[in-house]
Amino acid sequence: MRIVVLTGGIGGAKFLVGARAYARRTGAEVTAVVNVGDDVVLHGLRISPDLDSVMYTLGGGADPERGWGRVDETWTVKQELAAYQAEPTWFGLGDRDIATHLVRTTMLNAGYPLSAVTEALCVRWQPGVRLLPATDDRLETHVVVSGPDQPADPESAADPGQSGGGERAIHFQEWWVRHRGALPTHRFVFVGAAEAKPAAGVLDALAAADVVLIAPSNPVVSIAPILAVPGIRQALTDGAAPVVGVSPIIGDAPVRGMADRCLAVLDVPCTAAGVAGLYGGRGDGGLLDGWLVDPVDAATRVDGVEVEAVPLWMSDETATAAMVEAAVEAAVRLAGARTGRAAG
Ligand code: GDP
Ligand code: CA
Repeated sequence: MRIVVLTGGIGGAKFLVGARAYARRTGAEVTAVVNVGDDVVLHGLRISPDLDSVMYTLGGGADPERGWGRVDETWTVKQELAAYQAEPTWFGLGDRDIATHLVRTTMLNAGYPLSAVTEALCVRWQPGVRLLPATDDRLETHVVVSGPDQPADPESAADPGQSGGGERAIHFQEWWVRHRGALPTHRFVFVGAAEAKPAAGVLDALAAADVVLIAPSNPVVSIAPILAVPGIRQALTDGAAPVVGVSPIIGDAPVRGMADRCLAVLDVPCTAAGVAGLYGGRGDGGLLDGWLVDPVDAATRVDGVEVEAVPLWMSDETATAAMVEAAVEAAVRLAGARTGRAAG
């Protein structure tokens, strides 16, 4: 059984811990296709937040409290940069984390593609899952906003957008980390996506997949940038493997993070049905054969998609592995149904 998982950072990493447990038990093989839209160059270093969240989490080196970055982190370099007033000051780079970025940047500057760099970094972390960036090319999520350049003052009652300013695009990291998404926000743009190619290994993995799972990651800024790489969406819609997604929304709220804020920008309701509608059912030219929702959302209906309710709280590895098992079983059942239809 070959399983491909489309994934972002923190939510996806938790899901992959369960996928790895399921794979160890059943002999399945897991390949993760990871979002790179959050990637950014800061202080000359190439940062890949989602790849690192996944790699550190699976490798046992992630900070469990923050969910991102390294455990036992220290912040000497950050303090020294602040003493120089070196911009940007709003992004936290830990000392241990910086070593990863130094290795990555050095290898990229030497001409290695990000997929090869990721493989090299994984020699240390042994994630137990094959990690592939969605693309080796530059693809950055930018956010078109208006309003002041300074973060909103939480003490001030004024609407953050009132002091005006025309539309401008800022990097997703600046939008989220610096402004906490609290700016009038018009749309997300995946810069470079149109010219990007799937990274080495991605299309082969999708072609060989028995099952494709969409992790309960942020649909707007984690999964959409992956699907924006020409060729990836088509490999899913035209491929033989059934596609089953897992809802990141439980009871009308994201379990954690900013999916509500992102969905609002797209005018999509923050519900399990809203996210499934964004992906679309295969019958309507969309992606999904199946959609897992939490029992509290059991009434969810999505046109042309088989909805199944199973507990979706990734509280520990065992619970998450059970979720993955339910997703794989749904996929296998739906694959059977599709073959039956095609034959009949
Ligand atoms: P990011 O790149 O670090 O933002 O992480 P992802 O995009 O991979 O995942 C973020 C999403 O994970 C959020 O929208 C959360 O709602 C979702 N999430 C986090 N924990 C859980 C959980 O226990 N269950 C489910 N179903 N979703 C979760
Ligand atoms: Ca992310």
